[in-house]
Amino acid sequence: MLVVMKPHASEGEIAAVVERIASLGLTAHPIPGAQRVAIGITGNKGGLEAELFETMPGVQEALRVSQPFKLVSREVKADDTVLDVGGVPLGGNALAIMAGPCSVESREQLLEAAHAVRAAGARFLRGGAYKPRTSPYEFQGLAEEGLKLLALAREETGLKVVTEVMDVETLPMVSEYADVLQIGARNMQNFSLLKQLGELRKPVLLKRGPSATVKEWLMAAEYVVSRGNYQVALCERGIRTFETMTRNTLDLNAVPVLKALTHLPVVVDPSHGIGLRAHVAAMARAGVAAGADGLIVEVHPHPEKALSDGQQSLTPREFEELMRQVRVIAGAVGRAIA
Ligand code: PEP
Ligand code: MN
Repeated sequence: MLVVMKPHASEGEIAAVVERIASLGLTAHPIPGAQRVAIGITGNKGGLEAELFETMPGVQEALRVSQPFKLVSREVKADDTVLDVGGVPLGGNALAIMAGPCSVESREQLLEAAHAVRAAGARFLRGGAYKPRTSPYEFQGLAEEGLKLLALAREETGLKVVTEVMDVETLPMVSEYADVLQIGARNMQNFSLLKQLGELRKPVLLKRGPSATVKEWLMAAEYVVSRGNYQVALCERGIRTFETMTRNTLDLNAVPVLKALTHLPVVVDPSHGIGLRAHVAAMARAGVAAGADGLIVEVHPHPEKALSDGQQSLTPREFEELMRQVRVIAGAVGRAIA
């Protein structure tokens, strides 16, 4: 249920509603909006009577939320959520551009990539220190050494760090270094990890599972938000279909569909989405045209030498050209670049 307060409801009136929700053994989620505060309620097994709240001072109405994903739905919060990543917005009018190598490989590789993507206009540096590889014989990432290199690159460039956390065990360490915690596609429904992320107050980039429906993905986001971490962005990175000519099928349908269903920011990953360097730029442009709030793009100073995903990594020069094009498209759809 959603309790919508009157536009000028007092702090005391809001607190009284929160108190009544708690006294029923339920959880209150106050959601500030441009016009008024609303308070989401979770934890109820059946429906609640609207009169429980509608008789209280300052309350405009109490509405039943029809979607199973409650707190992340537009029904509950009409305004777009904008994540605050240490002063850099993720969401809202300005596009958030994240770029960097698939894996952190060395100091030279990472710093070269970081300086290049920053010069081209990115505000976020991506790079994995813990890599979920299909084969156990492939490069698994530099672990904490990689995180330290990301911190160094942040210090040198001012870029915010986006890096993947793969499990509950390494979460405390990864969150010490990361500005945005990336949850990989393979972990989208790792519910114990999602629950732990919900206890943090740190931005999360939740990638879509390769076979997850939009509803399952939003329910995964709900796991994090329902525990009080409202800083969640979604990342479309391609789904598995019958098509084998491309690595995945970037589901750009999901972008406008999500923008209608949820207030969370939506990021597009054209690199994993198509998996072919020659076509990454086309899908990045399409993502922005479709209404994405950001892009995450793999860029490597020497893709042919990359320890992971070289086949889909752009060179710094290619990324620079892509950014030029993205600026034009962003302008055409009324967006700026952060
Ligand atoms: C990555 O970002 O390098 C990655 C492993 O992505 P995904 O989880 O989407 O496969
Ligand atoms: Mn990758």
